[in-house]
Amino acid sequence: MMFLVKLFVIIPLVLSFSFSMELIKVDKNLYMVRGNDGLPSPQNKGFISNAFGVLTDKGWIVIDTLTTPELSKEFLTKLKKIADKPILYAIITHYHLDHWYGAKTFKDIKAKIIGHENLKKVYESGEAQGILNSQKKIFKGILDSVILVEPDITVKVNSKKTLKVGEDVFEIYAMPPAHTNTDLVIYWKNRKVLFVGDLVYKERIPFMGDRNASSKGWLKALERLKNFDAITILGGHNYPMDKSAIDWTYSYIKFVRETVKRLKDEGYFIDEIKDFFKGNPYEKVKMYEVFHNRNVWKVYNELDLELE
Ligand SMILES: [Zn+2]
Repeated sequence: MMFLVKLFVIIPLVLSFSFSMELIKVDKNLYMVRGNDGLPSPQNKGFISNAFGVLTDKGWIVIDTLTTPELSKEFLTKLKKIADKPILYAIITHYHLDHWYGAKTFKDIKAKIIGHENLKKVYESGEAQGILNSQKKIFKGILDSVILVEPDITVKVNSKKTLKVGEDVFEIYAMPPAHTNTDLVIYWKNRKVLFVGDLVYKERIPFMGDRNASSKGWLKALERLKNFDAITILGGHNYPMDKSAIDWTYSYIKFVRETVKRLKDEGYFIDEIKDFFKGNPYEKVKMYEVFHNRNVWKVYNELDLELE
């Protein structure tokens, strides 16, 4: 009995200081790993977002590459166990660390990296490297082996690139600024699956505070996403969703924008506006503590630049 009691005490402690990456079969030829919720930490080793593997007749297509080469290698090993076929493409949904920084693993094995035209620009200008250098200091020890790689194929904003791979068709759309200014959406046409990166969430607060984000553009992007004939919505931080998640995300962003705008027009300052949100219906939602105030601050500043 004593032994059992001890075991129950020890197991949760051990689990809370490690992480495991489990490959989940979402549907036929569609796999994902589900990241932890939170910011990169020594406990989660940067495993804070999802990545997806689509198995075609010709090989794998990967959507998003996780935070580090260590994580992307583990993901790759798991895909290869399912089918030892080449990785044809790795598509980066946007430039955030948890989606892009593991890409070198796939470049090294000759996968073509696909990204938004602005992802290439931010790489070439050196801006991305500068950000990585400062993130290495913030998230000590986690990003040490990250080497940024540029996309081999880019998609121009407001245009679409179609990949036909065996029987499968993928349409890749480059969006105007929304979550970032490098957002790609991938529509797996014959399966009605929409990969949305960080544009869509359910019961989790979106991060709207990126320097290149546009909450106004984000609402427009969500309106576009509603028009896709999609059954499954796959995002960077949720289990598989359906189209109701688009409405959920829309409602939160609209709520933040309308509240900030109204209070700003009434002459309130940013700290007063943050206080005004106390008791709002989203307070208990995941990641609220981490992102909500940053979202309010960003929208407050965005409104100055919007000409309506
Ligand atoms: Zn993101």
